[in-house]
Amino acid sequence: MVKDENVEFICLMFTDINGIIKNVEVPVSQLDKVLANKITFDGSSIDGFTRIEESDMLLHPDLSTWLIFPWGEEHGKVARLICDIYRTDGTPFEGDPRVNLKRIIKKMHDMGYTHFNIGPEPEFFLFNIDEHGNPTLHLNDDGSYFDFSPVDLGVNVRKDIVLGLEKMGFEVEASHHEVAPGQQEIDFKYQDAISAADSIETFKLVVKTIAKEHGLYATFMPKPVQGINGSGMHINMSLFNGDDNIFDDANDMLSPTAKKFMSGLLKHARALTAVNNPTVNSYKRLVPGYEAPTYIAWSSKNRSPLIRVPAAKGKSKRIEMRSVDPTTNPYLAIACILDAGLDGIASDYDLMPEVKDNIYEMSEEKRREEGIVDLPSTLHNSLKALRKDEYVQQSLGKGLTNSFFAAKNAEWARYQQTVSQWERDTYMSQY
Ligand code: ADP
Ligand code: MG
Ligand code: MG
Ligand code: MG
Ligand code: MG
Repeated sequence: MVKDENVEFICLMFTDINGIIKNVEVPVSQLDKVLANKITFDGSSIDGFTRIEESDMLLHPDLSTWLIFPWGEEHGKVARLICDIYRTDGTPFEGDPRVNLKRIIKKMHDMGYTHFNIGPEPEFFLFNIDEHGNPTLHLNDDGSYFDFSPVDLGVNVRKDIVLGLEKMGFEVEASHHEVAPGQQEIDFKYQDAISAADSIETFKLVVKTIAKEHGLYATFMPKPVQGINGSGMHINMSLFNGDDNIFDDANDMLSPTAKKFMSGLLKHARALTAVNNPTVNSYKRLVPGYEAPTYIAWSSKNRSPLIRVPAAKGKSKRIEMRSVDPTTNPYLAIACILDAGLDGIASDYDLMPEVKDNIYEMSEEKRREEGIVDLPSTLHNSLKALRKDEYVQQSLGKGLTNSFFAAKNAEWARYQQTVSQWERDTYMSQY
């Protein structure tokens, strides 16, 4: 393929703990070395990776992730391979989020399931850029939910993004303008866990690159503008055995296994929030009034709770976790979600009854009666919840847990020490 397509460079990609794509680009002259898993890099300066004294790491490319980028061909075609990180002694490095996800998938296989199917619904904003190429706070359009052009200026960009994704092998199911001005959603078909996480990472890269070609800036920041909806990334999920959807049940909304899986998600929901919503800004989206969940509950009837069970049947039977946002590292999020669900299957947690009313309209008293607890309201609170949940820490593994806390505690401290304009506006003249 390198020869047939005249590929000149190969990007060897992996992610750091924050889900940021890292990349070692090699000319095709290095192909033999790439295929022999012999490309090394210095892991010591990558967030969440190793200590200085064991900094050399090996890239093991996953050949099934081969694709050629549909842009930048004028400087030579560039292909990419997503890699697992190994130590120089030949063992997989469990601080690599992709390696860690494989560990949890192995556990799933051992419990008798073949696939954890994930269908993500990533949302993003398109902003205009200024004359220096920097993003402005100017939204690209004033469209709203499912609007069509000419109001929806995003439509051409979105078309090009979808075409780009299809060229790269994505099966795009739908794309539409979201509720907020300048906000878009593109949904692609569910895939098994590793491929889904790979696709989410690739998706963000494609969206940003093609938006830039249109003179726009795409961001997956959850709440770039106050007063309008934020961007989430709902995670639709189901366990399969071969072609059989284990979550489906001919006579019930969900199979008994699916209910147990969901009981695990609810049990660990507070700690999962730290991983699924890992930025200070994530919590500006998780507020009432903007279609994002703020309470731990499930429903088949409405979209206000954390977990929704869509009415679909058969292969499409799934549960949808609505809190997740696109700042999450998808390998970490999917690993922790899957492992929490497996805990539900292996344990005997009570499943709270379905919530049929709109939680936002319930009184606090009614919520208490129904046992509805709220999601952590800040990064600080979700980190505390993760600290208390040893099971979810185990889903990350020791190294990733330590790096995660180190990075996120520092992030929270920086935020907390920041005095904002809001505070000056509110307090300076008052006191
Ligand atoms: P919503 O109604 O929440 O807006 P969408 O139609 O936008 O949902 O997206 C649904 C997502 O669920 C798609 O990515 C789709 O491929 C995915 N999906 C469908 N069936 C399954 C399944 N069995 N397991 C996991 N994901 C699924
Ligand atoms: Mg959707
Ligand atoms: Mg839809
Ligand atoms: Mg949406
Ligand atoms: Mg959804």
